[in-house]
Amino acid sequence: MERYFQPEIECMERPAIEEHQLKQLQWQVKRVYENVAMYRERMDDAGVKPEDIKSLDDLSKLPFTTKQDLRDYYPFQLLAVPKKQIVRIQASSGTTGKQIVSGYTRHDLDDWANGFARQLVAAGGDDHSIVQVSYGYGLFTGGLGAHQGAEKVGAMVIPTSSGNTERQIRFLCDLGSTHLCCTPSYAMYIGETVKEMGVKNQLKLKAGIFGAEPWTEEMRHQIEEALGIKAHDVYGLTEIMGPGVSYECSMQQGMHICEDMIIPEIIDPDTGEVLPKGSFGELVLSTITKEGQPLLRYRTRDLCTLDYSPCECGRTHVRMRKPAGRTDDMLIIRGVNVFPSQIEEVLLRNSIEVSPNYQIVVDRVNNTDTFDINVELSPKFTGDVDAEKRKLETQLQSMLGIKAKVHLLRPKSIERSEGKAKRVIDNRKLHD
Ligand code: ADP
Ligand code: ZN
Repeated sequence: MERYFQPEIECMERPAIEEHQLKQLQWQVKRVYENVAMYRERMDDAGVKPEDIKSLDDLSKLPFTTKQDLRDYYPFQLLAVPKKQIVRIQASSGTTGKQIVSGYTRHDLDDWANGFARQLVAAGGDDHSIVQVSYGYGLFTGGLGAHQGAEKVGAMVIPTSSGNTERQIRFLCDLGSTHLCCTPSYAMYIGETVKEMGVKNQLKLKAGIFGAEPWTEEMRHQIEEALGIKAHDVYGLTEIMGPGVSYECSMQQGMHICEDMIIPEIIDPDTGEVLPKGSFGELVLSTITKEGQPLLRYRTRDLCTLDYSPCECGRTHVRMRKPAGRTDDMLIIRGVNVFPSQIEEVLLRNSIEVSPNYQIVVDRVNNTDTFDINVELSPKFTGDVDAEKRKLETQLQSMLGIKAKVHLLRPKSIERSEGKAKRVIDNRKLHD
């Protein structure tokens, strides 16, 4: 039977959610107008006053906030409270440029802990659980985010942080950890090492909570198989709050967004227009309970769809589908749009022959883009390397609509990631 951490919130009827959202949105718009110069100026420019927000549809009258704004107003100019009320600073991983910071009040940390606690309980966790947090601790939101959520549930928390993989696995076995929290690429690496150490039968793991980077369904199956668990997807971003913005229930059909704290929208990334329910586009989030650094209509650059259909788990909050990638992850190679997730899908389809450890290298030679994909052969591979390479190149071409050169490498020759994986090396920037 499905269990909930806060059933009165997680299973609220839609009209009650909307009533709560409107009240909170009005409260938030008024306070950012009064306390944050950037929002006041932008709203004045757009001719919108806080009193103009009379329904949830009026959200679209408000200006967007972008990652560039967080850089321009770095570090504290977007705070809506006096600095002394901020009790924690976290920073983004800087995957796509200069780091940004976000300040949280005590109340904001509590909200965030509730978000992750909902995830842990949805993954079968409770106060008997033993939760190993193998996300990095520090400025990255993964470690502390999972930690405080698991503590809130009353679980026993093991703050191993990332790295030292053999010790991680010893702890998994010796302490009988029931839940593992880390990035999916690190979970793959842990799974691979568990196999080498031959200790799968000593694990007590039941479920894993993996997020902070895109991953495919195929990767989910591999992790579930390697560790003998159910793998849940969790989503978050430093700007809003870390892991727990949305979380996956036992149905594994998308992540429930904490709609009591956040209002999601999907827009067309090119025009900024709000798209009808169910469309694929860029996810935009407004924080309606956050005190420290509230953001209105924050453009996440993550591409996904929202699913408002009822979920069998009983939760009523909308589900976001696994983000397909970011608008800024997309590579344009010889004029064609390429997402790393498409390449991963092809590699995982061939998981008997190759491992999903890969790297994409793009460069420019004589004004033409070069496109190379380095992939490790699986340790079990015994076939013909040239034939394998040609097969992958053909499959990739039909997936991407463009030709890539595949290089098959010996197992373990690509560096493993203990946090977010680095899949793309784009050397074209060096020539600009
Ligand atoms: P950075 O933008 O520097 O990587 P964060 O550490 O805050 O900073 O990462 C947030 C981003 O990570 C999200 O915007 C999203 O692109 C990605 N992300 C987080 N969780 C997931 C997930 N479950 N699936 C896909 N992408 C995710
Ligand atoms: Zn559900």
